[in-house]
Amino acid sequence: MSGAVKTSVIAAIPALGLEQSYAALPESFHALVAPSPVRAAKLVRLNGPLAEKLGLELDGVGEQALADLFAGNAAPGNGGRLVAMAYSGHQFGQFNPGLGDGRAALLGEVVTKDGERFDIQLKGSGPTPFSRRGDGRAALGPVIREYVVSEAMHALGIPTTRSLAIATTGEMVIREQIHPGAVLTRVAASHLRIGTFQHFAARGDIQSLKTLLDYAIARHYPQIETAENLPLALLGAVIDRQASLIAKWMAVGFIHGVMNTDNMTISGETIDYGPCAFMDHYEHYKVYSSIDQQGRYAYGAQPMIAKWNLTRLAEALLVLADGGQEAAAEAAVKVLDGFDTAFAGYWLEAMGAKLGLTAPAETDRPLILDFLTVLHKAGIDFTSGFAALETFVVEKESGVFDTVFEGAEDFEPWLEKWRKRLEAEGKSNAIRDRLRRANPVYIPRNHLVEEAIREAEHSGNFEPMEKLLQAVSKPFERREGLERYALPPQPDEVVHRTFCGT
Ligand code: AMP
Ligand code: MG
Repeated sequence: MSGAVKTSVIAAIPALGLEQSYAALPESFHALVAPSPVRAAKLVRLNGPLAEKLGLELDGVGEQALADLFAGNAAPGNGGRLVAMAYSGHQFGQFNPGLGDGRAALLGEVVTKDGERFDIQLKGSGPTPFSRRGDGRAALGPVIREYVVSEAMHALGIPTTRSLAIATTGEMVIREQIHPGAVLTRVAASHLRIGTFQHFAARGDIQSLKTLLDYAIARHYPQIETAENLPLALLGAVIDRQASLIAKWMAVGFIHGVMNTDNMTISGETIDYGPCAFMDHYEHYKVYSSIDQQGRYAYGAQPMIAKWNLTRLAEALLVLADGGQEAAAEAAVKVLDGFDTAFAGYWLEAMGAKLGLTAPAETDRPLILDFLTVLHKAGIDFTSGFAALETFVVEKESGVFDTVFEGAEDFEPWLEKWRKRLEAEGKSNAIRDRLRRANPVYIPRNHLVEEAIREAEHSGNFEPMEKLLQAVSKPFERREGLERYALPPQPDEVVHRTFCGT
């Protein structure tokens, strides 16, 4: 639709002091694209604290210049061009050799005062050579979902890409229905994915694969630069970050929904918030995504799928390994097996903390699993179940009638075991504090996200989105006036299916 309607005059956008280390990589890594201006760019959200953290100097930049910048009406670097990244990936188990940024493109990178480098990327900024049959655009709904959920994940202490801005385009996008268009500005430690490695391995482009290996290590794992076997060292490092990440997802009931290898980062950040969801009542193999008909990416399948994806990374890296392929494969399998141990450890740590345990041991595993069984059998809301525990630390407190565990017959016997275990954990006040720090009260519940999207899409009302952001940006701090944001959905509010809407 862009170009069909004359765009208003584009303001002079700020250069932002962006660097272009990715654009400086060889041509095989990207395509430079001219901006596709939109009809009426309007900035509807800017993440002030994030802009500040990045050191972006936006004060004094006019409103229209900001809107043009974040709608992709002009590019501040590379001779006025945006950078679309090349990658491939396994989608639902099938290898697709030609994906790439079809509706996203980099503006460039910022380096913060602390020397951290971040990509600034626009999502929904128009077609690129990787768009295939897509329009290169994004609908406002999915943009809001990504903004809210990624910022919530960050506040929960989970590594993630972040969201800097939402600009609406004044154009409509056609999916199953017609939706208002928008552009999300995404901030990431980088956008390197498992699929980026697969891209060059599949083409037998050893030179690019080597360049990518060095670039990824320099950018994310400088501590392994002197390792003897760089491909294996990178594999081990990514495995550790991903094992830690998935354990954190599990601990908040997060279901990514599309764990394709192009949606798994080398940095260990959560990326690509499509049909993602937070579990309401606890169900181990819960699936929300409408496109995940086999339950491949169910809640409880996520660790296994992460390992499957990391095995694809290992295969891509094997192409570079020193020595014979067979010996290299054997070594890679050993490193891959490290995922299970690492994940088990991170999971125990994260879930143990949710029960107030400072140093959970293997012997605590049954206590955790038994609590999950209590939640499962009585159909109890995952987030509320854990959040309520702080009121049960000491026996006399539980006189407070708590509706959360109503009908959960196994709760009382479990509670006895838990309290017994807590005797080794110090004063009850300290335990309560730890429970509060480990168990969020506010998460971006599916029905609240849908409500925010509905209001913005249909009535141009961004208030519900703002209110939800206010709740989830301090997820552990119960506040007055935000009561309904802490509650599970009413039966008629339950979201059963999520859509990627791309
Ligand atoms: P995702 O589902 O976001 O992981 O996207 C998978 C692939 O489809 C990526 O290569 C995207 O760039 C591409 N894609 C998704 N939506 C669009 C769109 N509207 N236009 C062009 N490419 C798209
Ligand atoms: Mg993707």
